[in-house]
Amino acid sequence: MLKKIPLDEIKYVLLDMDGTLLDLYFDDYFWGHLVPEKYAEKHNMSFGAAKDYLFTTYKSHEKTLNWCDIDFWSRELHLDIPALKEQIRHLIEVHPHVIDFLKLMKKHRKKIFLLTNAHFKTVRIKFNKTQIGKYFDDVLCSFNVGHPKEFIEFWQKAEKKLKFDKECSLFIDDTEDVLKTAREFGIKHLLFKAKVSSKAEPKSSEEFLTIHDFRELM
Ligand SMILES: [Mg+2]
Repeated sequence: MLKKIPLDEIKYVLLDMDGTLLDLYFDDYFWGHLVPEKYAEKHNMSFGAAKDYLFTTYKSHEKTLNWCDIDFWSRELHLDIPALKEQIRHLIEVHPHVIDFLKLMKKHRKKIFLLTNAHFKTVRIKFNKTQIGKYFDDVLCSFNVGHPKEFIEFWQKAEKKLKFDKECSLFIDDTEDVLKTAREFGIKHLLFKAKVSSKAEPKSSEEFLTIHDFRELM
């Protein structure tokens, strides 16, 4: 079903990366399986105990810049996080129909910006594997902005840097809290991406127009 997004009115397409364009299975597997496994080996504890400890630790840093900072996690956990990500880079995948959507937006001369809470080192690893970097006019990592996307300051700085017009911008993300902040800031067109992982059931949103798949926009 075509969602009621008037693509003609849109000049700027703002896109989240993980879960929205790329399969979140990579990140779920990384933080939920590989990191606990390596942490357990290193500290001579069971996988279950490592997982419990890590999930509490992750939670305590949610919505902070530490959360997105893989160098922070390398220090905190005494593991080489970028090297571990490289180890499973084969799991980094673009969601179906994303490339066709990006090509179509380019053809219609939309400006395409990637706005991500991911660290620039993670972005580099993911761009190397997927080659999607070439479709973006610019890439903004919240780590470089100084605030995660859940905070209005992120949007104020993003607008200054990228010079998009919020009245003719479309923003797509798989995190409702991020969409709420974007709405408060005044981004006119918002979409919730429900199918985030190839291996998990879609999420749902009560508040935002939803797509499961980029084919719905073409
Ligand atoms: Mg996301």
